[in-house]
Amino acid sequence: MKYKRILLKLSGESLMGEKKYGIDPAILQQYAEEIKKVKDMGVEIAIVIGGGNIFRGVQAEKSGIDRVQGDYMGMLATLINAMALQSALEQIGLYTRLMSGIKIESVCEPFIRRRAIRHLEKGRIVIFGAGIGNPYFTTDSTAALRAIEIESDVVLKGTRVDGVYTADPEKDATATKYQNITFTEVYEKNLNVMDMTAFTLCQENNLPIIVFDMNKSENLAKLAKGEQIGTLITV
Ligand code: UDP
Repeated sequence: MKYKRILLKLSGESLMGEKKYGIDPAILQQYAEEIKKVKDMGVEIAIVIGGGNIFRGVQAEKSGIDRVQGDYMGMLATLINAMALQSALEQIGLYTRLMSGIKIESVCEPFIRRRAIRHLEKGRIVIFGAGIGNPYFTTDSTAALRAIEIESDVVLKGTRVDGVYTADPEKDATATKYQNITFTEVYEKNLNVMDMTAFTLCQENNLPIIVFDMNKSENLAKLAKGEQIGTLITV
């Protein structure tokens, strides 16, 4: 295996599938099965999941809700997704732990770095819910921070697009994909990979990011084996 320990970032929106809101159970099951393939290869897996399919803090301001309050609502939304994913993983026989950035003791454990690492060593899939627990951050930043804390080898950012393109491929037919790109080139070309806080954290800590299409079967397993899929971003 190319990687011993990975951190997989899934957006909340990806869980919607064809729906306009919420969680599509078929997608959840599909993701759980893709994750199991990698687990069965002996890779340690941590997951950060977003909440954009339910609520985002920026949305709150538009509807007259205080921004900070909205961010906490967004963090709770990520926990709903995390609980759904945890259930889907357990239904196919995987051992999991859900750790939250906000204390919510009757539902899951709080995030404790050493405990998270111990869970991974014991073969449990660890899901990090509720972001980092602070407003004005995103789950991309959570993914970067937690990956560094647990000494993950890489951040795998699963999206609907199969990598980083010269322009948005959903809008521009002439857009071409990068196989490899450096952090500096991403800044210079003003490409959109992750928010800047997350991106800078990865760069400063020499943590590679791979952007790939999570909806294509076997992609995650191929990445774990070291195949070139999506776009690899390195220092
Ligand atoms: N959020 C936050 N702090 C965090 C992580 C998330 O305040 O550490 C809030 C923020 O409002 C964000 C929402 O939770 O909009 C949902 O997360 P995100 O937008 O990153 O989800 P995704 O786009 O990945 O679905």
